[in-house]
Amino acid sequence: MNTNDIERLVIVGGGTAGWMTAASLARHFRNSGLRITLVESSAIGTIGVGEATIPSIRRFYRDLGIADEDVMKATQATCKLAIRFDGWRRPGAGFYHPFGLFGHDVRGIGFHHFWLKMNALGLGADLPQYSLGVQLADAGRFTMPAPNPASPLSIFDWALHFDAGLFARLMKDVALANGVEAVDGLIEEVGLRGEDGFIESVKLADARILEGDLFIDCSGFRGLLIEGALETGYEDWSDWLFCDRAVALQTGHDDDGANPPPYTRSIAHAAGWQWKIPLRHRQGNGYVFSSGHVSDDDALQTLFQNVSGPARTDPAFIPFRPGRRKLAWHRNCIALGLAAGFLEPLESTSIALIETGIEKIKLLFPDKSFDRGSIDEFNEMTALEYERVRDFIILHYKLNGRAGEPFWDACRELEVPDSLARKMALFRNRGHLVKYRWEIFQAPSWIAIYHGLGYLPLRYDPAVDSYEVDYLERVFAEMEASVRDAVESVPAHGGFLAGLEQEP
Ligand SMILES: Cc1cc2nc3c(=O)[nH]c(=O)nc-3n(C[C@H](O)[C@H](O)[C@H](O)COP(=O)(O)OP(=O)(O)OC[C@H]3O[C@@H](n4cnc5c(N)ncnc54)[C@H](O)[C@@H]3O)c2cc1C
Repeated sequence: MNTNDIERLVIVGGGTAGWMTAASLARHFRNSGLRITLVESSAIGTIGVGEATIPSIRRFYRDLGIADEDVMKATQATCKLAIRFDGWRRPGAGFYHPFGLFGHDVRGIGFHHFWLKMNALGLGADLPQYSLGVQLADAGRFTMPAPNPASPLSIFDWALHFDAGLFARLMKDVALANGVEAVDGLIEEVGLRGEDGFIESVKLADARILEGDLFIDCSGFRGLLIEGALETGYEDWSDWLFCDRAVALQTGHDDDGANPPPYTRSIAHAAGWQWKIPLRHRQGNGYVFSSGHVSDDDALQTLFQNVSGPARTDPAFIPFRPGRRKLAWHRNCIALGLAAGFLEPLESTSIALIETGIEKIKLLFPDKSFDRGSIDEFNEMTALEYERVRDFIILHYKLNGRAGEPFWDACRELEVPDSLARKMALFRNRGHLVKYRWEIFQAPSWIAIYHGLGYLPLRYDPAVDSYEVDYLERVFAEMEASVRDAVESVPAHGGFLAGLEQEP
């Protein structure tokens, strides 16, 4: 350890964000001499939601040396191949956003260009028929992707639905095993250094004082350090994202739970949307809504009308303000999780943003001089990442087709951020999909939402015309058959989960 190295890291908060950060950093810096302390308050508890993930979570815990099967068993998890959107285009119509590809690109030309031509000629099938992820999800089947890239079963990815409390406990076990010190106590005061306003310490209700060189604020929406002490400021995105409240409810399964759907459901209602997340032992539900368009009582009634399993908890109302902290890293404090910002639960992006935040901390880990360049780089990357997720989420609302409902009409009419307007125009005019470095959702995800909501390009890439239509017809038929055969060979999701439980 050099004299200027950070010696004491204090993580404030023991929710999903705090324990993921503690586990990952403790393992990453295990021989460096860095001492990590995590303070949490059992009196306050955690937010208790956050059960749907995207595939990057699997890379995150694999880096901690934990296998898929072990996480699934420890967290009552089910598998997630996709999100199914019901009623977003119009009541009664549904589509999937899968974790996987639609068809195959050819020599740099996106498959969707070939599909657009075939579709215009009335040939081939609808786009989702060329997505194994969609077809597996729709058939309620699941298997691990084949490791051999030549196998048709290799072209999809998957994530988990898990019990957030059990996942945080698993992360806590890893953190403690790697030397993290856990403190249960209520922080009442944050001590700032006179000369530069850096955080020196946090003081607990029982008068204990914890000093640190670097603080990671994972204290949830309250942003105890980043906002409460450092007054960093918040960029509010509620002009674009109208949902600002959710009511969450845990129930039994809608059916007998023997074959839970391998996807999250997102069901549009009059003033927002409802999630249904199947776990092994129960179902997570919630209605995310705009308080400007529906009262709490009516939102709760909508939720009750649309779950059929018995309630296991009281409904919990959760207010939120879409946006992000103006600076995710300010002085010697880095905010992660809800303390850094929150868009809304659609597309399950919050835990993924915690993962990428942790990666950036590892990449730019400071020493006691807190080099300005690293801080600026961190903040710039974080801002871009949040903005790109924001744009992807706004897209869902902007393209909705539910005419005649004030909430959905307002969403359709909203003026989107310039960054999204440019992307949408490029897609509309020539089918071009913009790809950025700091972007969680890649081209296939954008295609899924554009196509699912009926926003198609006006023309396809003319390079497609160099392929004979007969040839394309043959290839399309083969591809469709290959997806169909692959789905046939895969067991029901429930069977896969039961097999997992029987493993020693
Ligand atoms: C309605 C809703 C649905 C969501 N669904 C999803 C989803 O499906 N997928 C997804 O990826 N994300 C989802 N999220 C986000 C997800 O819940 C969070 O990203 C995740 O739970 C991390 O939360 P956190 O650890 O930042 O905060 P919290 O869970 O709130 O933890 C805060 C911690 O700080 C501690 N603390 C606070 N104040 C003090 C104090 N004074 N002293 C000591 N300790 C203190 C608390 O005790 C707690 O341990 C959802 C969020 C909402 C609101």
